[in-house]
Amino acid sequence: MKEKTSILVIGGGVAGIQASLDLADRGLRVYLVEETPSIGGRMAQLDKTFPTLDCSICILAPKMIECYRHPNITLLTYSEVENVSGSAGSFTVRIVRKPRFVDEAKCTGCGTCTQKCPAIVPNEFEMLLGDRKAIYMPLPQAVPRITTIDKDNCLYFTRGVCKICQKLCQAEAVDFDQAPEKITLNVAAIIVSTGFNLLDPSAIQEYGYGRYKNVVTSLELERLANASGPTGGHVTRPSDGNIPDNVAFIQCVGSRSLGRGVPYCSSACCMYATKEAILIKEHKPKSEVFVFHLDLRASGKGFQDFINRAKENWGVQYIRGRPGEILEDPRTKDLVIQFEHTVGREVRKLRVNMVVLCPAFIPQESNKNLSKKLGVKLDEYGFFEAKDPPIAPVDTNVPGIFTCGCCQGPKDIPESVTQASGAAARAIEVITITAHRRAQ
Ligand SMILES: Cc1cc2nc3c(=O)[nH]c(=O)nc-3n(C[C@H](O)[C@H](O)[C@H](O)COP(=O)(O)OP(=O)(O)OC[C@H]3O[C@@H](n4cnc5c(N)ncnc54)[C@H](O)[C@@H]3O)c2cc1C
Ligand code: SF4
Ligand code: SF4
Repeated sequence: MKEKTSILVIGGGVAGIQASLDLADRGLRVYLVEETPSIGGRMAQLDKTFPTLDCSICILAPKMIECYRHPNITLLTYSEVENVSGSAGSFTVRIVRKPRFVDEAKCTGCGTCTQKCPAIVPNEFEMLLGDRKAIYMPLPQAVPRITTIDKDNCLYFTRGVCKICQKLCQAEAVDFDQAPEKITLNVAAIIVSTGFNLLDPSAIQEYGYGRYKNVVTSLELERLANASGPTGGHVTRPSDGNIPDNVAFIQCVGSRSLGRGVPYCSSACCMYATKEAILIKEHKPKSEVFVFHLDLRASGKGFQDFINRAKENWGVQYIRGRPGEILEDPRTKDLVIQFEHTVGREVRKLRVNMVVLCPAFIPQESNKNLSKKLGVKLDEYGFFEAKDPPIAPVDTNVPGIFTCGCCQGPKDIPESVTQASGAAARAIEVITITAHRRAQ
């Protein structure tokens, strides 16, 4: 396909997937570059989504597969943008495909290698709560359904022994000699959708994350609640595997904070904490669930109703106040939360079996590097900056380069998807204008 009808999308989360499908459905050629071995992003890790409580992967997986099968989309997973030059209507982009050590054209995704590989390592997709092998499928619904060898943990690469996967693979897909591959593309426009990361809550030492086993993060809870997760969908305490009778959520961990966190609101936490509180009640209706919050921000359609239902139908208890400290009972591993009840105006204590922290959304570390390659400005926090937030929210300072989703700031899935369609529409304009100029 020629440059004038081709578009590069960087980042294969829900925003990048939506933008790619919108463009491809209009007959344009899309190159979707994803740095990890599978597309899906954070949404693939979620159990359910607010406010409808739909199964997250049930909504996302069909879109992931559609991306893979679409004749106008070329998926470049496990790949990175190395260099960008040119301008709107004609960018030249160099992509590096990292070696998977598994031949994409031959692997059938049968899983024989992953079963027999002797090297066991913590699984990043399961937020390190479960294990994977050195040759692994990144997630059960991975797209493309191809394994990858993690060179740092493979016994062949680290000690020169093993090669069991190669011996067992009937498709002869394992290739230890694979090298990085460079591809040069010509595209008319670029959409950046590289998403977000979460603040490491061990930075907020008084909450004990990393020291107390039963203090977990909200993303860890998504995996604990998920049927294909490390506990088979049972929300259990990491210390003893028991199902907790009472759980407390703490919002704004590092958000709206001066000094150790970030000053901005992370936008989705009030709603997803409510969702996760309901999930715990669904799993064990007699459990007590508390949500510590500063003020509840339920600005989207149906959001306030969702919080009202959590209170009235499920008995979720909301407490206004930021906890000052959490202490662990060394015998039971229960947690005692000390907090100021800002409505009752008194200092109180609450004892619970498990605490869930909702950390701040932060920019991807790789934004710095990518912004230099693209010439696109970052804002003061490190998110991609919009050219003019009120009237050009998906444009950047570089004509022909657009952004969408959480790479430009915290937001939920509906907002990410809406922006993705907006960015796709703006990219189509570049193609139309370029074609018009060439015709003149
Ligand atoms: C615990 C938790 C629960 C949530 N629950 C909900 C919910 O119930 N409902 C809801 O609406 N929202 C929820 N959200 C918010 C939701 O996760 C985000 O809105 C959504 O994931 C944003 O999608 P995205 O595509 O912008 O980013 P991401 O999902 O972060 O995807 C970005 C993708 O880009 C890739 N990438 C990054 N850098 C590069 C690079 N340099 N090159 C190539 N690829 C790159 C990443 O690997 C990733 O695949 C929740 C968030 C959290 C943390
Ligand atoms: S590498 Fe071979 S054994 Fe492993 S999943 Fe692919 S086809 Fe199956
Ligand atoms: S060679 Fe590496 S990836 Fe293959 S089975 Fe052995 S340890 Fe696992």
